[in-house]
Amino acid sequence: MSNRPAGMGRGMRDFMTAEEKANAPKVTKELLIRVFSWLTPYWKQFALTLFCIIISTVLSILPTVLTGKIIDEGLIGRDLNRLIFLIVLSLLVTFASNLIGVAESYLNSWIAQHITYDMRNQMFRHLQTMSQRFFTSNNQGDIVTRMTSDIDGVRSIITNTFSSILSNVITLVVALIAMYQRNWVLATIGIVIVPLFTIPTRSAGKTRWSLTREAQACNDEINGILNETLSVSGQTLVKLFCKEEEEYKKYEAANRKMIELNIRESMAGRWFRVVLSTVASVGPMLLYLVGGILMMKYNSNLTVGDITVLVSLLSRMYGPVNQLLNIEVEWIRSMALFTRIFDYFDMEPEIKNPDNPIIPSSCTGSVRFEHVKFWYESSRTILKDISFELKEGNSVAIVGPSGSGKSTMINLIPRLYDVVDGAVYFDGHDVRTLDLSWLRGQIGVVTQDTYLFNGTIRDNLLYAKPDASEADLVEACRKANILDFIEKQEEGFDTIVGNRGLKLSGGEKQRISIARILLKNPSLLIFDEATSALDSISEQKIQDAIDPLIESRTSILIAHRLSTILAADEILVVKDGEIVERGQHADLVQQGGVYTELYETQFGKAAELNPVPEGSEAGKVAGWNASYTEGEDLIEYYGDAIKD
Ligand code: ATP
Repeated sequence: MSNRPAGMGRGMRDFMTAEEKANAPKVTKELLIRVFSWLTPYWKQFALTLFCIIISTVLSILPTVLTGKIIDEGLIGRDLNRLIFLIVLSLLVTFASNLIGVAESYLNSWIAQHITYDMRNQMFRHLQTMSQRFFTSNNQGDIVTRMTSDIDGVRSIITNTFSSILSNVITLVVALIAMYQRNWVLATIGIVIVPLFTIPTRSAGKTRWSLTREAQACNDEINGILNETLSVSGQTLVKLFCKEEEEYKKYEAANRKMIELNIRESMAGRWFRVVLSTVASVGPMLLYLVGGILMMKYNSNLTVGDITVLVSLLSRMYGPVNQLLNIEVEWIRSMALFTRIFDYFDMEPEIKNPDNPIIPSSCTGSVRFEHVKFWYESSRTILKDISFELKEGNSVAIVGPSGSGKSTMINLIPRLYDVVDGAVYFDGHDVRTLDLSWLRGQIGVVTQDTYLFNGTIRDNLLYAKPDASEADLVEACRKANILDFIEKQEEGFDTIVGNRGLKLSGGEKQRISIARILLKNPSLLIFDEATSALDSISEQKIQDAIDPLIESRTSILIAHRLSTILAADEILVVKDGEIVERGQHADLVQQGGVYTELYETQFGKAAELNPVPEGSEAGKVAGWNASYTEGEDLIEYYGDAIKD
């Protein structure tokens, strides 16, 4: 259901779409109690607001009533003192009403802001407890909409809907009492006439509303085009496919449609005003006519002042009646909004801390998978029966075709997801029995898609260890092989990395994230190597960065490069969610199975481009060609690794 309350013109708020009608929530007692429970902490302020609304509305009608006396007693009665007194009184009452109105607005906005503040905080905290599945299966835009415009909508409900219902009802009641006090015939004519006048107003409003909706849809389309084409990746795509002209034409067409709709909408508004002002003037004329007849023909004791008051009161009733006729729409929309927000609050986090979590006093980082079965959706099993053990200080490389389930395996260790069957043990304990923060604190993950916040390099590094000293940063960056790069930047550690780190290359980002992990100093390191090809120099730099990391640490490497695979103690070959081969490179490559195939198609590729000089150690030992970097003796490294 689309959300509309905030920032919308009246026309848009008065009617519901078919979708809104179909999805109108059932307003139960529980829902109402839940809605009003948000007001409970502020009930004193709320009571004061109600009081202010009542007083200011009554006072705002008083000058209209005093006008009758000004005419009858001051002007027609030719009593100057009385005239001055009534004028001053009328001005004072107006001033007092406005003054109370200011207090009411302040209180109203104070309550609304505090409720949205509470709601936002609670929602943010709640969303942070939601599991990975929630974020992968929900549209990011939807989540942000709940946090922003939906909760803004609640503020608008409190400041507009609730207070307008109250002040409109009071205005009508006070106006009716005042009218009946003057003359019951004219008052009754007024009651009959007012709703009749609102009908044409509503039908004119409906036309305008449908145009506004069309313009809104068109505006969304334009925003979509802008977001897609003027984003960094969008522009790259446009440029590379030479689609500038095509995109321009699309934009121009949407832009044209928008101006046409806007012109039609403003003209519909014009007609609307013509109808409104003509219709609105019929009411007072009718009261003058009937009032005049009563005075002249029936000798009624009506005065000129009375008729003037009645006409003024009648005009004051149009607005409130019209607004109250729309209250149902506002009400349903408000309840729908609350329901949407409550639905989010009611979602249970999938991964929770156990009741009596274990917090071991030390940590080795060892990992054991026992007959692990896992699926994201039960229709497709991703991991079938995975068992392996990684002992303290050792490293394991997981290799396999794309989509075989490698990343999924590692997601189970920090409990981004829980197993469907079997168990994952960390440090000898089932991960589901460990304290979640402790568990995640022991694991450092360098992901494929390195995420850096839009801040400085320093901010990104300190995220892992806020109390790290300058020397710690320098040391971590040196080890991660990124210090040279940082020192070359004018701003050094204070260089801004750009939105999601886009100002840096893939290799630079990954090395910064390695430095970040070094600062975290985890017991278990998980390195999900980027599949994207890096040039051999960048590759070597990353390799040099991971080597010291994994040397003395328990590590799992999802490897796409031969150099990484060779650095591991054991290789697990995963295919279709199963470990199909395991062992050392030299053995696996000769088995003629999945590993050999992967080696020939993937790992060997770079090597083919940069053949190892004949007779080299690497070539002899493993019978393959390694990637070769200018000025760096990689071959020697590979040879040693294989011999080890
Ligand atoms: P790559 O080497 O390309 O990174 P991978 O071996 O790491 O691949 P996974 O990312 O573990 O593969 O994915 C295994 C399978 O699970 C894939 O078919 C993928 O489409 C599916 N998958 C991954 N994440 C999700 C998710 N959040 N929801 C549903 N299916 C998913």
